[in-house]
Amino acid sequence: MRKIRTLAVCLLCLLLSSCKAEPERRDFFAMDTVMSLMVYGRNAGAAIDAAESRIYELENSLSVNVQESDIARLNSLKETELGPDALALIRESIQFSGETGGCLDITVGTAVQAWGFPSDEFRIPPETELERLQRTIDYRGIKLTDSSATLEEEMQVDLGAIAKGYAADETLRILKEQGISSALADLGGNIAVLGKKADGTDWNIAVRNPGGEDYLGVWSGSDMALVTSGDYQRYFERGGIRYHHIIDPATAAPARSDLRSVTVVCPSALKADAYSTALFVMGSEKAERFWREKGDFELILFTDDARLIITDGLKDCFRTERKLEVLER
Ligand code: AMP
Ligand code: MG
Repeated sequence: MRKIRTLAVCLLCLLLSSCKAEPERRDFFAMDTVMSLMVYGRNAGAAIDAAESRIYELENSLSVNVQESDIARLNSLKETELGPDALALIRESIQFSGETGGCLDITVGTAVQAWGFPSDEFRIPPETELERLQRTIDYRGIKLTDSSATLEEEMQVDLGAIAKGYAADETLRILKEQGISSALADLGGNIAVLGKKADGTDWNIAVRNPGGEDYLGVWSGSDMALVTSGDYQRYFERGGIRYHHIIDPATAAPARSDLRSVTVVCPSALKADAYSTALFVMGSEKAERFWREKGDFELILFTDDARLIITDGLKDCFRTERKLEVLER
């Protein structure tokens, strides 16, 4: 009798653990930021292992800071064979540069370094240097073949604006491949969610207030990416002026945008990452025009005079206690 009872208890435990409602969560540091994966399902641990390995693989190919990465090699040799990820991402970035009138341009590398990002040795380059830097930024100076790239002599590539978006898409792809249907990937503020939460409810993602420690509001939904670019994420201050890390390719200096943050909401994290950087550079008016032209993504904008603006596709899924302006299509 006791044996049967023990067996029944074991069976119950097994049943409960197989449909456990708690996600498995793992935090780790990669691509210069803290990443967090939250995964529901029985295979969660193994799926996270696979996704995490893929992220390190991408870092080793795409990061300028990894000595032997494809991008570091391209920057130093100016002509090199590239792995499939670097090749695909550079190809996509050139496409985004064309679409955004050059507001996204991965050849901002020289300027990013001159201003002291990412070494943290911040400085304000003099005007003559900025003029020289401007001549080193032009995505048309990258030439691709099926397996290699060449780069103009003075140029440096930096994939910081798009690599984490690409990695977020890859993370969800790997998780799906591992049989997962419910997960959240937060790659340093580049967020992508797969399905709904295990209990069938929507994911809730808070959007940070650039001007404080609180939030602008909360987005709720499923199967989506939310990527934010902002002047608060990386910056230094001199003489009361904030110099942030989003460079206007036309001036080689931090973009003088009327926006403090841009959140792009669309199914592709890569596109959201590329657009959020580009639209920050554009400023609110051009960003609105771009949204009307394209129409395949939604926006949450926060301006330097504290206006909170969303596009109409978010009306039913973005909650806030602030005064809200809605852009109607
Ligand atoms: P994000 O946080 O996605 O907006 O990307 C900002 C990072 O991308 C910076 O830290 C730079 O490494 C790089 N970057 C800055 N400005 C640009 C730009 N206009 N186009 C492409 N990459 C940029
Ligand atoms: Mg970006």
